Amino acid sequence: MAYIILDKNNFFYNLDIVAHKTKSKDKIAIVLKDNAYGHGLLEMAGMAQEYGLKQAVVQYKQEAKKIKHLFEHILVLADIPQKKSKTISYTINSLDSIKKFPKGCLVELKVNTGMNRNGIEMEQLSEAFRLIDTHRLKLRGVFTHHGCADELDGNYEKQTKRFLAVKKEVKELIKSYGWKKIRFHSANSATLFREKDFDEDIARIGIAAYGCLEMPKELCKVELKPVLALYAQKNSTRIVKKGQSVGYGASFTAKSDVVVSNYNFGYGDGFLRSCSNSYQTPQGVQIVGRVSMDNSSFISDADELLIFDDAKDVAKFAGTISYEVLTSLKPHLKRKVAVF
Ligand SMILES: *Cc1c(COP(=O)(O)O)cnc(C)c1O
Repeated sequence: MAYIILDKNNFFYNLDIVAHKTKSKDKIAIVLKDNAYGHGLLEMAGMAQEYGLKQAVVQYKQEAKKIKHLFEHILVLADIPQKKSKTISYTINSLDSIKKFPKGCLVELKVNTGMNRNGIEMEQLSEAFRLIDTHRLKLRGVFTHHGCADELDGNYEKQTKRFLAVKKEVKELIKSYGWKKIRFHSANSATLFREKDFDEDIARIGIAAYGCLEMPKELCKVELKPVLALYAQKNSTRIVKKGQSVGYGASFTAKSDVVVSNYNFGYGDGFLRSCSNSYQTPQGVQIVGRVSMDNSSFISDADELLIFDDAKDVAKFAGTISYEVLTSLKPHLKRKVAVF
């Protein structure tokens, strides 16, 4: 079976750079949704804890349960629990969801500042506070999410300005209800690296920690190191003669005799089929024919092949983003943590 190597040194290297920007490890909330961006939830959560991170972010309560012993606090982005928890807070994504949370539940209120995906509208803040109070939920934070933090189109500044207004109004509301101080956050990886002087309570960091942040040069020039590498093992080797073809649809035809080996991974393991016929490994080994479910062929006779060690490269070939390359990798692949 193909397998994944997770480079702990690179992960810690990235976290050092992130912590320098946030000015404290305690302000990093590591985003571990989607099986930690395909890296492996437990593997990455364990390393994050070893590094000294105390906060995590996941999508669902099931994920939070698996890692709650490792963190002081976890934010769940989109789920509603049966029972309250002292260390897990849940996101309010709309006004009408407020009544569904159990009494005493820790919640964080998401406010839409222009991405128009999730969160209450800015005009609904006082109504949200009234409902949170009526349903006796405990407000722990107010946050927003940027839709254009890696773009230069002016939307980022508009959202930032709106969130400043949200903070101001929320502080007044907190005072009038006599509630405890809450936390504010709006930064994903791109936001953190684009800001000169980060001053919020936490940053929700995914792609930067995994070493695949891509930003326009005008915004930030940071060099991070990819954590994940995918390796595959050989099933068989043959000489494909001039004029013969390889794989489904015979989409590759040899121009001269060539040594081709088949390796034990394909789109069934999460390797994108759009890499068919075009992808080259970091060592310049060429894929030939279509990627099939559990098989891919390369011009090589090596017993083992490094398929990629930087998801950004695969993304270029496949016409997508590193997030999709990484989260496509299936949980059944073996993951090993390595210290180089
Ligand atoms: C996924 C996600 C993040 C992390 O974004 P990156 O670009 O990977 O840093 C942060 N906040 C929210 C709400 C998210 O859904």
